[in-house]
Amino acid sequence: MIRNKLLPCKYYQKLMKRIAVDMDGVLADVYEQFYAYDERDFGRRKQPEEVMGMHEAEAFPSIRKFIYENGFFLNTPVMQGSQDVLKRLNEKYEVFIVSSATEFPQSLPEKQSWLGQHFPFITWQQMVFCGSKHIISADIMIDDQFRNLDSFKGQTLLFTQPHNINNREHQHTRVDSWQDIERLLLR
Ligand SMILES: [Mg+2]
Repeated sequence: MIRNKLLPCKYYQKLMKRIAVDMDGVLADVYEQFYAYDERDFGRRKQPEEVMGMHEAEAFPSIRKFIYENGFFLNTPVMQGSQDVLKRLNEKYEVFIVSSATEFPQSLPEKQSWLGQHFPFITWQQMVFCGSKHIISADIMIDDQFRNLDSFKGQTLLFTQPHNINNREHQHTRVDSWQDIERLLLR
């Protein structure tokens, strides 16, 4: 199907499944930022085994300071493999990038700029910066946080991150990489 980006959503939304894609911990490799900022402040880079299975704030006690710093979100590395797969998902699905961002107001322009830089095929109409994700309605949600997935009504993909890696008691489909997402949604 040829998708005309100039058409309002209402003309094609019934034809494609809608996916809500998280940013931090899914598109954006925020753990790389946590490691780097923690090393900057404490003089030693933590090893992965020191943070595996821990809540982010437990693993990185200064995390609240880091994420309020200018440039934290703007300079976050892109998750490996995400650009190519999301570009192809964007041709087959109605993609929305959904980020719980309003808690950190300084992150809003940084996140929009970051998406424009690394995912230029995502239009402003596809960016949803919100508080709670409970209001999000879609067919599929890709997220790394149980608090977002547990109340979602559609298909849920849990993106593996250090904080959720040990939790096996859930009903979500775990994906360890964007290659896993590709296998599930593009084949
Ligand atoms: Mg996240």
